[in-house]
Amino acid sequence: MSNRKTIQMTIDELTNQIEELEKKKVKISKLTPEMRVADFLHDEFCTHNHIDGCGYHYGDWKDSVANMRGSRIEWYERAERLLFKFSEIQIILFVDTYKGYLPQ
Ligand SMILES: [Zn+2]
Repeated sequence: MSNRKTIQMTIDELTNQIEELEKKKVKISKLTPEMRVADFLHDEFCTHNHIDGCGYHYGDWKDSVANMRGSRIEWYERAERLLFKFSEIQIILFVDTYKGYLPQ
């Protein structure tokens, strides 16, 4: 394959990645801090399998909080409790820094 084709393929691949990240950024910007922290905490700490052990990904933040069920509301409430005392960035930095030292 020519060098020019390889470069174009790389550009196309990176362009697709940028478009996906832009979509993700728009989606995340519409969430509340509680929702973002809940997603972060779930991704960091949920140890259940996501086929039939945890229903987190079956819901959507488009649902109102009153309509949330199961593990999604549990992670949301954990986020809410943490956000009473700490900022979103404090929670994320703490977990990123100390996750390996926290009890599972
Ligand atoms: Zn889960």
